[in-house]
Amino acid sequence: VVRTRVAPSPTGDPHVGTAYIALFNACFARQHGGQFILRIEDTDRLRSTPESEQAILASLRWLGLDWDEGPDVGGPHGPYRQSERGDVYAEHAQKLLDSGHAFRCFRTPEELDQLRDSLKEAGIQRALKPSDLALPADEVARREAAGMPSVVRMQVPEEGKVAIQDLLRGEIELDWAQVDAQILLKSDGMPTYHLANVVDDHLMQITHVIRGEEWINSAPKHLLLYQYFGWQMPVLCHMPLLRNPDKSKLSKRKNPTSITYYRDKGYLPEALLNYLGRMGWSMPDEREKFSLAEMQQQFDLTRVSLGGPVFDVEKLSWLNGQWLRELSDDAFIDTLQNWLFNREYARQVIPHIRPRVETLSQVVERAGFCFGDVPTLTEASFAHPSIAADDMKVWLQYLLWSLEALRQWERDALFAEAQSLSKALKVKVKDFLFPVFVAIAGTPASFSVVDAMALIGPDLSRMRLRTAIE
Ligand code: ATP
Ligand code: GLU
Repeated sequence: VVRTRVAPSPTGDPHVGTAYIALFNACFARQHGGQFILRIEDTDRLRSTPESEQAILASLRWLGLDWDEGPDVGGPHGPYRQSERGDVYAEHAQKLLDSGHAFRCFRTPEELDQLRDSLKEAGIQRALKPSDLALPADEVARREAAGMPSVVRMQVPEEGKVAIQDLLRGEIELDWAQVDAQILLKSDGMPTYHLANVVDDHLMQITHVIRGEEWINSAPKHLLLYQYFGWQMPVLCHMPLLRNPDKSKLSKRKNPTSITYYRDKGYLPEALLNYLGRMGWSMPDEREKFSLAEMQQQFDLTRVSLGGPVFDVEKLSWLNGQWLRELSDDAFIDTLQNWLFNREYARQVIPHIRPRVETLSQVVERAGFCFGDVPTLTEASFAHPSIAADDMKVWLQYLLWSLEALRQWERDALFAEAQSLSKALKVKVKDFLFPVFVAIAGTPASFSVVDAMALIGPDLSRMRLRTAIE
């Protein structure tokens, strides 16, 4: 029986790339009468958050994807959250230590840097190998006795070639020289992605690993781990990554990548899923509009084409228009109503609006920017008695850059960014925020722009700042 999985790390906004990979995994499993599993890979404790996990689950559900097993629905191979499986990984790391396929490494970060530097100086281009890392037995004993931290690393061949079988690409040949003695367990006992991923794929009886091509270089390590454990390796299939229209890897610096952005902008889940289904794949009859059920019925993984699929927001909008036009008037009204009056969101908007209105019709005027697009901005929108338009653009660009690096998208953090930038630029915060108001709300007369950005979220905010700069 076919079993596939999607294994997102909850370290940020739910990415359209995650939905794309989930969609292809779901279609492949369903089409074979198998199961599709959702696993949360939250071994990076510093970057993982429960909010991000919630947002990922909610946005995949919004898209209409369903999984047979997962952290929220349970299943026979749980827990489905890696942070709850620490014992399983420790036990498996111990097995590798016992069989000599892994070793404890007491090298300090400084020593690792020195080792890398000396390879570089010698002009040798290869990864760090177990032989580089080895220490005399008495030194290991000394460090252990002194309670120095250690990690568990895997044994890897020093040289030669390794062949990886990929469902779409056939045989991929890689060099062992570039594969390092990967850390499996960190000094705090937490597993790394590689150990947790392989152990879980095996224990969860995954038969086909369908994931982004960014993971191809990890495949040799995984292959070794399967061999060390004496397990059968699942079939690998590396999907082409989504690309910006300029063919670079889709990234939030150039395009909105968060599923919630597309939901908030009023794209239909059916249309977004349909569009993702056309990333590197097409229906046998090449029709552009199709439902998830139709895709599942016709799905054929081997028809995925490897040319980098371009995620083009304009084409997505066109397709969304097709979906909207085919709704009956009543269905259209219901859809609009559900989108516009998402109660949870409205609850966040209303407190900012209520003190500023006297009639309901004013709500539309004052809060419109929280729901729809900002009205087209002109030079006049930015007219200000004492700030030059050129300065405003520079400020907006600085803000955009600083917000791209912002980890926590919340009011106070946003305000702190604005404050520190205005200080560095030696302008009043109020002046600094003037063009931001216009970019985000279309008018300087809105409620606090920091609240507004917190409300509409990172992707929509960045998009509006970018548009204002252009
Ligand atoms: P960005 O460059 O926008 O910051 P990222 O690579 O940092 O993106 P992550 O948060 O690392 O994004 O990725 C979240 C999930 O989305 C991962 O599962 C990753 O595999 C997937 N993903 C990211 N970029 C793409 C892409 N271009 N195509 C397909 N999947 C992607
Ligand atoms: N946690 C990885 C990710 O975020 C999963 C990679 C895989 O599918 O093996 O993409």
